[in-house]
Amino acid sequence: MAKRDYYEILGVSKTASPEEIKKAYRKLAIQYHPDKNPGNPEAEEKFKEAAEAYEVLSNSEKRQRYDQFGHQGLGGNGGFGGAGMNMDDIFSQFGDIFGGGGFESFFGGGRGGRRTKKGTNLRVKLKLNLKEIANGVEKKIKVKRQVLADGVTFKTCTTCQGSGQIKKVVNTMLGQMVSASTCHVCGGNGQLVDKKPADADARGLTLKEEVIAINIPAGVADGMQLSMSGKGNETAGGVPGDLLIVIEEIEDEILQRDGNNVVYDLYISFIDASLGAQIEVPTIEGKVKIKIEPGTQSGKILRLKGKGIRDINGYNRGDQLIHVNVWTPKQLSKEERQILEALKNSENFKPSPDSGEKSFFDKMKEFF
Ligand SMILES: [Zn+2]
Repeated sequence: MAKRDYYEILGVSKTASPEEIKKAYRKLAIQYHPDKNPGNPEAEEKFKEAAEAYEVLSNSEKRQRYDQFGHQGLGGNGGFGGAGMNMDDIFSQFGDIFGGGGFESFFGGGRGGRRTKKGTNLRVKLKLNLKEIANGVEKKIKVKRQVLADGVTFKTCTTCQGSGQIKKVVNTMLGQMVSASTCHVCGGNGQLVDKKPADADARGLTLKEEVIAINIPAGVADGMQLSMSGKGNETAGGVPGDLLIVIEEIEDEILQRDGNNVVYDLYISFIDASLGAQIEVPTIEGKVKIKIEPGTQSGKILRLKGKGIRDINGYNRGDQLIHVNVWTPKQLSKEERQILEALKNSENFKPSPDSGEKSFFDKMKEFF
């Protein structure tokens, strides 16, 4: 792949002053810093690219050669600033660009500084029925959290002097470089347990059962995960992790959920379908009476507006859809048979769908 122009990478003109170049690089270095873009190879590429461009353009001799001869003037891969430039090289530049403090001052404890330690997350499953999902509900969840034991005391880790990191100065042909790694003695806490009660583990933590109240918003769905910040496990010298609540829907025996709508299959006799009737149907909020018009066909869909589930992102509510099925008797007594036989040739009992009868597919289109 052809190398991009260094000025273009930094977004500066060919006549840019060293100060302008530094400023442009600072901006890009912050934007594409790996700590801000974890697991993003594209950002890392941009980060390296910018570092390489800066490395050349910030050096008046290299810049002159680059201006005159382009990438070739720097000897193939651009010398030190070439593709071989690794992250440690790049971070070692930062003392120059960001001042003595390096990156810490920009990211509140980035590379080389002390990261805020976070306890582990706790994950619990929470079963909800349709009514709870439709309206939202407050639930009390029992969890066992790791908390700092009463009476535990800490002392500063002598291996890392409390920084949580061990820095090593390496001499290379390019000068001294500093590499930092997490302290193996304290695991990055910077602190070690001094005194602890008998029930605490080596980290000074003990399990404690707690009841945590949580407001579940209406409209959640199976598999959704809610997060309560700081309600997870505690850790020495850091902030607690989060409590993650995974929603499990209990399937309703009567009503089916379809997004924010609720679907109910209603069976009526063909007599009710013919004569019309008042019929009770279940909803999330209890039974309601609906009217069946005389001459109702099987497959008709009735809509109870606003009897569905509240949307998780707003105040709109879904509907309840009632699928009307006309029940055909499976067995008949002798008397019933005679009555029906008598009606058999009656003109009104012969199917004669007109243009007013919508097909199943038309109905589906109308409702969804
Ligand atoms: Zn340590």
